[in-house]
Amino acid sequence: MSRRAVAVRIEGIVQGVGFRPFVYGLATRLGLAGLVGNDERGVFIEVEGGSAPVEEFLAALTGDPPPLAVIERITTGPAPVTGRRTFAIAPSAAGGDRHALVSPDVATCDACLRDLTDPADRRCGYAFTNCTGCGPRFTIVRDVPYDRANTTMAGFRMCADCAGEYHDPGDRRFHAQPVCCPACGPSLRFDGPGGSGAAGDPLETAVRLLREGGVLAVKGLGGYHLAALAAHEPAVAALRSRKHREDKPFAVMAGDVAAARRLCVVDPAEERLLTGPARPVVLLRRLPDASVAPSVAPSVAPGNRWLGVLLPYTPLHHLLLRALGQPIVLTSGNVSDEPIVYRDEHALERLGGIADAFLTHDRPIHIRTDDSVVRVFRGRDLPIRRSRGYVPHPLPLARAARRPVLACGAELKHTFCLVKDDRAFVSHHIGDLENYETLRSFTEGVDHFRRLFDITPEVVAHDLHPDYLSTKWALDQDADLVGVQHHHAHIASCLADNGVAGPVAGVAFDGLGYGSDGTLWGGEFLVADLAGFERAGHLAPVPMPGGATAIRQPWRMAAVYLDLAYDGDVPEDLDVVRRNAGQWAAVVALARRGVNAPLTSSMGRLFDAVAAVAGVRDAITYEGQAAVEFEQLADPAVDDAYPCGLVSAGTRFAVPGVELVRAVAGDLRAGVPREVVAARFHNAVARVVADGCTLVRKACGLSTVALSGGVFQNLLLLGRAVTLLEERGFTVLTHHRVPPNDGGVSLGQAAVAAAMAANSPIRGVRRELSQARHTWFGGMSETGT
Ligand SMILES: [Zn+2]
Ligand SMILES: [Zn+2]
Repeated sequence: MSRRAVAVRIEGIVQGVGFRPFVYGLATRLGLAGLVGNDERGVFIEVEGGSAPVEEFLAALTGDPPPLAVIERITTGPAPVTGRRTFAIAPSAAGGDRHALVSPDVATCDACLRDLTDPADRRCGYAFTNCTGCGPRFTIVRDVPYDRANTTMAGFRMCADCAGEYHDPGDRRFHAQPVCCPACGPSLRFDGPGGSGAAGDPLETAVRLLREGGVLAVKGLGGYHLAALAAHEPAVAALRSRKHREDKPFAVMAGDVAAARRLCVVDPAEERLLTGPARPVVLLRRLPDASVAPSVAPSVAPGNRWLGVLLPYTPLHHLLLRALGQPIVLTSGNVSDEPIVYRDEHALERLGGIADAFLTHDRPIHIRTDDSVVRVFRGRDLPIRRSRGYVPHPLPLARAARRPVLACGAELKHTFCLVKDDRAFVSHHIGDLENYETLRSFTEGVDHFRRLFDITPEVVAHDLHPDYLSTKWALDQDADLVGVQHHHAHIASCLADNGVAGPVAGVAFDGLGYGSDGTLWGGEFLVADLAGFERAGHLAPVPMPGGATAIRQPWRMAAVYLDLAYDGDVPEDLDVVRRNAGQWAAVVALARRGVNAPLTSSMGRLFDAVAAVAGVRDAITYEGQAAVEFEQLADPAVDDAYPCGLVSAGTRFAVPGVELVRAVAGDLRAGVPREVVAARFHNAVARVVADGCTLVRKACGLSTVALSGGVFQNLLLLGRAVTLLEERGFTVLTHHRVPPNDGGVSLGQAAVAAAMAANSPIRGVRRELSQARHTWFGGMSETGT
């Protein structure tokens, strides 16, 4: 029989994911000899044996790799036949693993789930079971290289059984750094009303507390959660009031997909996301309450047609949900908008007033990491928050940075981003960067990422807003500074997300961002590539009476828009006027005088205004609430739209938002149902998007559009805008790896800073644009284009 030898090289995410044991197992099963090892480029293999088994080996390598492996490239070539008889795992070359990428945390795999429920297995019922295919990673890593000694498992000495598995190349726990068992690993503990470390089985005691309607703090992978039975209204209501969370929906953890289907509609893309290794909270369409049992208590997601659902992602979650047999609310362990608690010493102090008891353990969490939140748009992920399960996996940049970059992000939903070469490491969700605590999370996070990925930034990118803590911090750094306009960063983020460099027609709709002219932008049409941008059009600016107060009180924006729409003579039969009669005149006066009323072109504020006019909400308790509820109000069967002609505004075009508000008020006064009004408004904004992009295409030929900014989390608007744009022949880029909201801004800043030095095609487009500008409307129609 002829003997054959082949050398194989595999690149991609192939380290720390069980690739070597997989290769070892495959080769020995097929009776092949050779070796497999890690080096700085990935995995190398030499394999020899009979022709047929070698072929089978090569086919299986790509056909059935470990679930977490991502093979980017595989190359094979002939190797000399040595006549060796065994297969071995080669020791790593010195330093070879030093900068192997740290993986995100991974949900419990099927094999570990079997161990968890197999009475014959020593890990049966053990809450910290893991292997190379699953378990904690990013949240326990203190330093590189990624060895047990550099994780929060350092204090747990492996028992002989675990050490045997750890050193056995044929075992799926070979080199699994957090490997452990009941004899040697972390243990659960219940701290309850009966004092700390209460007697009895911690899990059983916790289950009893939940069944009786208690609120339980549970230590998870990246922080503490607060849990209560989802069907138990008094428990959920108590959790809500103790947490000072008035309206913002809670997420629900269901035991499995079947349990999720009893609450919500789950399509195949959503199922893939729910059951995948990242296990984010997935926003799903709720079934009507009456049809589900056990149902979800009204306080879980009041008045919301969507429900955030996630499946268990640690053995502890699996054990809890199995014992309970019904879904639980699982929400971040914090008060109001504070960062999630992750240190044991803070848990009792900060959560003691909320939780009746604690189900905790002695494996420390090194870095706070919130659950990720994702929606599905047209079969693809649309991240709302990218954190646990995704971070710190790098995103590829279309253009490599010549010098390492740190991008400091914005303020709300803060993230930062470090770039080396063509890899962008977007951080976990830091929170709203508004106080000392989150600022410290940010700076400690930067230090941690610098160490993990061996990046010393030479360029620091920041927002233009002078009052953002991230900007102030950036300005103190000893590095080359690059200020990036907020909406340019949004568009650049969408470009980077899609791996393209532009130029494009960029539509950035959000709450607020500091504009290059010192006013507050937020309804922007930009011609942009990574290196630069021009403002082609925008929502016509209006005053924001009371500044930030107008963000918390959408009715103030309604007052401004209605005052303009009716030229100071607002019909008094509008409900919004009656409801706010006491302060109406004062607020309108503030806006007219322009005192403490900064100008804004924000699309978020226009949504606020219309939502208040339609009676959805005059004041909000969480960011974007009025717009979120207004989207849910809209009847998706309505196809017509309010007219809104774009107008010339000097060198740019403007969107007269006032016309839309007038149309909304007129319909409401005429008794048109609010559901129809909401839909017509959404359709009108979608048409505005398409009309603005069409103007830009006429002016400078760009037929690719990038949609970004928090307003595009609105699926009704996003869907209608994409459909219209595609009907008109545009290629449309939307987000699928980072959020369209400010959580994606750091990636955009980084991409801009990385591209600044490169020769940019924006210059040519800019020239065309400036020639077209004075003729947005007149000139072009005269020449018949
Ligand atoms: Zn596993
Ligand atoms: Zn052990």
